[in-house]
Amino acid sequence: EAMCAESVVDGLDPEQAAAVLAPRGPVCVLAGAGTGKTRTITRRIAHLVSTGHVKASQVLAVTFTARAAGEMRSRLRELGIGGDGTQVQARTFHAAALRQLRYFWPQVVGDTPWQLLDRKFAAVSQAAHRCGFATDTDTVRDLLSEIEWAKGTLIAPEDYPAAAARARRTPPADPERVARVYSTYETLKVRSGEGMYLDFDDLLLHTAAALEDNAAVAEEFRDRYRCFVVDEYQDVTPLQQRVLDAWLGDRDDLTVVGDANQTIYSFTGASPKYLLDFSRRFPDATVVRLERDYRSTPQVVDLANRVIGAARGRIAGTRLELVGQRPPGPEPTFAEFDDEPAEAQAVAKAVAKLMGKGVPASEIAVLYRINAQSEVYEQAFTEAGIPYQVRGGEGFFQRAEVRQAVNALRQVAARDDLPEDADRGSNLLSLVRASLVPLGLSDTEPDGAQARERWASLVALVQLTEELLEHEPELTLEMLLRELAARAEARQPPTVQGVTLASLHAAKGLEWDAVFLVGLTDGTLPISHVLGDKETPPDQAGVEEERRLLYVGVTRARVHLQLSWALSRTQGGRRSRRRSRFLHGLVPDSSPASKIAEPASSKKKRPQCRICGKPLLGTTATMLGRCEGCPSNLDENLLVALKEWRRERSKEMKVPAYVVFSDNTLVAIA
Ligand code: ATP
Ligand code: MG
Repeated sequence: EAMCAESVVDGLDPEQAAAVLAPRGPVCVLAGAGTGKTRTITRRIAHLVSTGHVKASQVLAVTFTARAAGEMRSRLRELGIGGDGTQVQARTFHAAALRQLRYFWPQVVGDTPWQLLDRKFAAVSQAAHRCGFATDTDTVRDLLSEIEWAKGTLIAPEDYPAAAARARRTPPADPERVARVYSTYETLKVRSGEGMYLDFDDLLLHTAAALEDNAAVAEEFRDRYRCFVVDEYQDVTPLQQRVLDAWLGDRDDLTVVGDANQTIYSFTGASPKYLLDFSRRFPDATVVRLERDYRSTPQVVDLANRVIGAARGRIAGTRLELVGQRPPGPEPTFAEFDDEPAEAQAVAKAVAKLMGKGVPASEIAVLYRINAQSEVYEQAFTEAGIPYQVRGGEGFFQRAEVRQAVNALRQVAARDDLPEDADRGSNLLSLVRASLVPLGLSDTEPDGAQARERWASLVALVQLTEELLEHEPELTLEMLLRELAARAEARQPPTVQGVTLASLHAAKGLEWDAVFLVGLTDGTLPISHVLGDKETPPDQAGVEEERRLLYVGVTRARVHLQLSWALSRTQGGRRSRRRSRFLHGLVPDSSPASKIAEPASSKKKRPQCRICGKPLLGTTATMLGRCEGCPSNLDENLLVALKEWRRERSKEMKVPAYVVFSDNTLVAIA
């Protein structure tokens, strides 16, 4: 049933309602974290659809993450939009481009086959090797980020050196050499005769070009989509803006929302200038500012205001103080530890305590600056028997059986003796099933934890195929493989409901009841490379972006917030670290050092390898898969040992018993 005007603004404040009810045309919401920007655009879409201004299928909403897109779709369903089978397209820029390109490709490029490049790192590594670079992880990562920045800012290889100098980039080598790696990488992707590989930026480039160069395609597209919405607009890159402009043509039915204080992707070329310039570009735009914060307690809001209030050289037009709307809660706490393992164990303990008080694991997050910081938390949570999931880290698509399955499907796709139609539509499902049987797919769940895990992954792949077929009855194996590659690249999170471990970048737009911001030392946040050294001066703009990351982190918390840091990396290591400069003036004096004493952790009994009896120290992966000194393939034994040990520990901890594998699979122990 269609919604009426009153219900569409139900539970909105007057400014939010003004943005929702604004006439068709350009709308811009400039507001701080937690003020309801995402809520507002969802309602605006509902309003435009329910009043018949546009059909649900004519709306293209671009959001930041796959999860945000999914959330928007489900919120719209709750509002009664899209129930008639037509859905609002809520996607990331990349996913939207991927879908459009599949459709337009034959028309604009012809029958050159293409596939999504799912091993970008390897491709850059190969290009680097050809150009005489060492291919250690750090160098390749730095080269990759230069290439991504250049592509995101629409800079061709030959223009890279000059542009990099202008933008004060700090490339890992002479800019001319970096440019050579960039152009080699581009040529490597175009394999003569066998079609070509496209990376995510190529998807955007080809999409923009298809619309810019091909009037018929542009016309067809603009007939299909009539209303555009962009969330987190402060982090749009020039390349994404070009796609958006190509989508729009000379129309102006565009709603954007963003917060310049949450710009945290400038290293990829993203810029808040498009957000801040919006009303100049569209002089008759409806511009709305929101300042009530509906997410966090006044205590959290106050801390957020102080973090961002200290920012230097603030971007014009961003002086927005948040005003908390929720009932008061506990003060944010600050805690200092001797070393990282102690910090992680204390966080695990605090998490267990919150869970004991009834806060669900899925409402708790541990946020850090770089992904490598997750490891010590994975270990602490595993030891404490707390279920968790890592966002943006290793996941479902990195599991051995999933990689094998994708390879098996690729081989099937390469065969030319398939019966006609075997690889498309409802025949496709049986083809996928048949291909996965040799890998362990069966009708009944097998015995043994390892076998069950494998089996569950394969079943998940079959289910995914079924789901895709529902939306795309003519789905082909080629399309399925492309979708799998896209998901692997987008690292869609596994389905386990546990405590979230995520980088601050991956936490954008999300919220939890309890948030632990960890590892807040100088050199980690702000990250060392913006601080400069004897030869390089500090990168002031980089430092400010790091401050905004802290602001993003603080504003993820609804109620509980703890900020912590450790003076040394390893137990008993040198205390060479200082707490983050951003905490200056924020840590209350009344809590001297705010230190939480922790019992020494060294005496804790570790699980032992069944074969050699050695304690299984080290990372989660070591604990589960490898035991130094013993032959490989002890998984089953290790698992048994781990389970026994866990059963004991979980009695102590009074939390449910789980084994969490390094790839986030969760097995509950009866
Ligand atoms: P961010 O900048 O972090 O993306 P945001 O501005 O998009 O934040 P939302 O996620 O839309 O904020 O909203 C934050 C929280 O406040 C959500 O839980 C949302 O449901 C709630 N909220 C938003 N507006 C209102 C309102 N008018 N009344 C009550 N709750 C609201
Ligand atoms: Mg939002």
